[in-house]
Amino acid sequence: MLNVHLPDGSVRSFDHSVSVLEVAGDIGPRLAKAALAGEVDGKVVGVDYKLPASGDVKLRILTNKNPEALAVMRHSCAHVMARAVMRLFPNVQLAFGPTTGAGFYYDMDLPHAIGEADFPAIEAEMQRIIQLDEPFERIEEPRDKAVAICADLKQPLKVEHIQEGLADHQTLSFYRQGEFIDLCRGPHIPSAGAIGAFKLTTVAGAYWKGDAEKQQLQRLYGTAFFSQADLDAHLKVLEEAKRRDHRVLGKQLELFSINPLVGQGLILWLPKGATIRGNLEAFVREELRLRGYQPVYTPNIGRIELYKTSGHFPYYKESQFTPIELEENEHYLLKPMNCPHHIMIYKSRPRSYRELPVRLAEFGTVYRYEKSGELSGMTRVRGFTQDDAHIFCTEEQVAGEFRSCIEMTQKVLDSLGLKNYRVRLGFRDPMSDKYVGSEETWHRAQASLVEVCKSLGMEAQPEPGEAAFYGPKADFVVADCLGREWQLGTVQLDYNLPSTERFGLEYIGQDNQPHRPVMIHRAPLGSFERFMGVLIEHFAGAFPLWLAAEQARVLSVSEKSEEYGKQVLGELLAANFRATGDFRAEKLGSKIRDAQLELIPYMLVVGPRDAENGTVSLRDRIDGDLGAMSVAEAIAKLQEEVKTRRVRQTFSAAAPTAAETAAGEEY
Ligand SMILES: [Zn+2]
Ligand SMILES: [Zn+2]
Repeated sequence: MLNVHLPDGSVRSFDHSVSVLEVAGDIGPRLAKAALAGEVDGKVVGVDYKLPASGDVKLRILTNKNPEALAVMRHSCAHVMARAVMRLFPNVQLAFGPTTGAGFYYDMDLPHAIGEADFPAIEAEMQRIIQLDEPFERIEEPRDKAVAICADLKQPLKVEHIQEGLADHQTLSFYRQGEFIDLCRGPHIPSAGAIGAFKLTTVAGAYWKGDAEKQQLQRLYGTAFFSQADLDAHLKVLEEAKRRDHRVLGKQLELFSINPLVGQGLILWLPKGATIRGNLEAFVREELRLRGYQPVYTPNIGRIELYKTSGHFPYYKESQFTPIELEENEHYLLKPMNCPHHIMIYKSRPRSYRELPVRLAEFGTVYRYEKSGELSGMTRVRGFTQDDAHIFCTEEQVAGEFRSCIEMTQKVLDSLGLKNYRVRLGFRDPMSDKYVGSEETWHRAQASLVEVCKSLGMEAQPEPGEAAFYGPKADFVVADCLGREWQLGTVQLDYNLPSTERFGLEYIGQDNQPHRPVMIHRAPLGSFERFMGVLIEHFAGAFPLWLAAEQARVLSVSEKSEEYGKQVLGELLAANFRATGDFRAEKLGSKIRDAQLELIPYMLVVGPRDAENGTVSLRDRIDGDLGAMSVAEAIAKLQEEVKTRRVRQTFSAAAPTAAETAAGEEY
C-alpha cells in the first residue's frame, strides 16, 4: 500500500505504483491539467515520475504558482533554445544547459559565432516549437546504449561526459522533444506549451567544464516566465540594474576610480566619494560611541609571527598577499585581518572583570588577494576598510553584546532605506567534531542568537554546518531596491583566538582567578568599499541629503545677483552644509540642468528680488520648484531633512524568491 501525504494534511492511498500525474488526476482533472512537476520528499521531479508501490511519501503538485516549477520550465526552455539553434545552424555540439538565478543558459560549440543579431531568428524558431506543444519524453538507457546514442547524434562532449564525468552511472536518462534528444537528468515540464514568455538575453564565451585549457564554447543566455507581465517586470529590473551599475555611476559622478598603474582591485576614493564615506564614517562613529566602543588605530602590517599565533598564516595563505621579506630575515604580512592587532591591545595590560566588555573599534584597512578575474568595481577588491570592532566579554555577556550589534546594524541599514534584510545564522554541524569550545557553550550562544533575532523581529534562518570551526555567526543579507541580495555585515563569535593555543587571553574574575574571555568580531557594514558600491546602486547615485557630497548649490539668475548669492552660500556653509555656488554667466536653465545631472539634492536660486527681500527660490531635485522663502526657512527645512536622515525616491521591486535558484538538472 502506498500512502501519499499531501500539503493540506490529507492522505491518499493506492494499492499500486502511480505517477505524480496520476495522483494529481485522482485529486481533480483541473489540477492534473495544471501540474507541471512534483516535489516528492523534498525532491523536484517530473509529473511522469513513478512513486514507489508501497510506503509513505510526501508529495506536492507544482503548478505555475510555484517557484520550483519556474526553474523546471526554464530548463525546458533551454532545451527549446538548443533545439532552435540546431535547426538554424549546422554542426552544433551541445555541452551543459542549466538554470541560473534569473534564467538559463546553454553552452554549445558551433562554427557560426552567435551574435545578438541572430536572437530574433532563434526566438522566432523557439516560438514555433513552443506553439506545437510537443511533450518532453523521458527515456532511460543503459550506459553503453547511451554512449551509442550520443555518438550517433554527433555529440562528442556528451559522449566524453558519460565516459568520464558519469563513469559511475549504470543508467542514464535522455529527454526527447520532437527531433531533439538530449542527455539530461531532468526533470522537465510535461510539454512546451507551458513556457509562457521568454527572451534571449546575451551571449558570452565559456569553456567546456569551465576549464580554460579545454574547448571554447558559446554560452547563450535566456530567461523565461509563466506570463508576459512577469517577463516585462524582470526586464525592467535588468534595465534598472544596468542604469545603476556602480562602476559606471562611480566614474560618471566622480566617486571613485581604479587605475591599472595603481593596481587592480585597489580603490581610489575621489573627493565626492570620500566625502560620502566620511559622512558614513561619522554616522557609524557616533553609533559606536553611544554603544560604549573605544577607538583604536593599528598599523597596516604585522610580523608574520603574529599571524602564525592567530593561525591566519599559513591557513589563509591563498587569500593573502605574499609576505614582505626584510634583510634581517624578518617577515611582515600586509594585514589580512584586524583581530590580532586588537587582541594585542587587549593584552597590553592585565584586565579585570569590572572593565568587560572591552569593545575596541577601528575602521581598519585590510588586504586580501583575490584573483584578477574575481575583481569587480567596489564590491570585489583587494584592499578595503572594514567598520571593524572586537568585543572581549564574559560568556554571560554574549547575548547582550549580540543584541547591541544587531540593533546597531538595524539602525544603520534602516537609516539608509535598506529595509529589506534577513539574518543567516551559521551554526555548528551536530554530526561534526571539528569545533573548538564545548558543545554546551555553543548551544547557549546559538540559542541566544535565535532569541535576540526573534525579540528584535528579525527574520533569521539557522543553517547547521555553516559555522566556522571557531564559533557561530550571524550574517546580514541585505536586499537592495532591485531585490538583489548582498551579504554585508557579520557578527562572529570566536572561542579560538582567546584560547591557550592562540593568544591565551585572560581577565581576572571576581574570584581573583584568571578566566578566559569570549571574543566577538563584528562589522555591520562589512567594508566601506563594498557598502558604498551597494549604496551607489541602491540610490542610483542620488544619495540622500544627509550623505550627499554636495547638498546644495546656489544658482544666480544673472551677474547682478552674484554678490547676494555669495552671501547665501556663506550662510549655508556656516550652517554646516556642503554647498557651492554657480555664478557663471550661463542661463539659469542650463545651471539647473547641470545641478540636476550631478544629482544635487537642493538648488537655491537667487535673483534681484531675492536680494531685496532676503529670500531664495528653493528647488528640489525631485519635486522641482518649492517657491520663495527666507534663507533661514530654507536652511531649517534642509536641516530637518538631514537630522531625520530622510531617504527619498528609491526604485522598489519585489525580492526574488530563493527557490528560483534551486534547480540542478545537469548530471
Ligand atoms: Zn536538460
Ligand atoms: Zn576580527
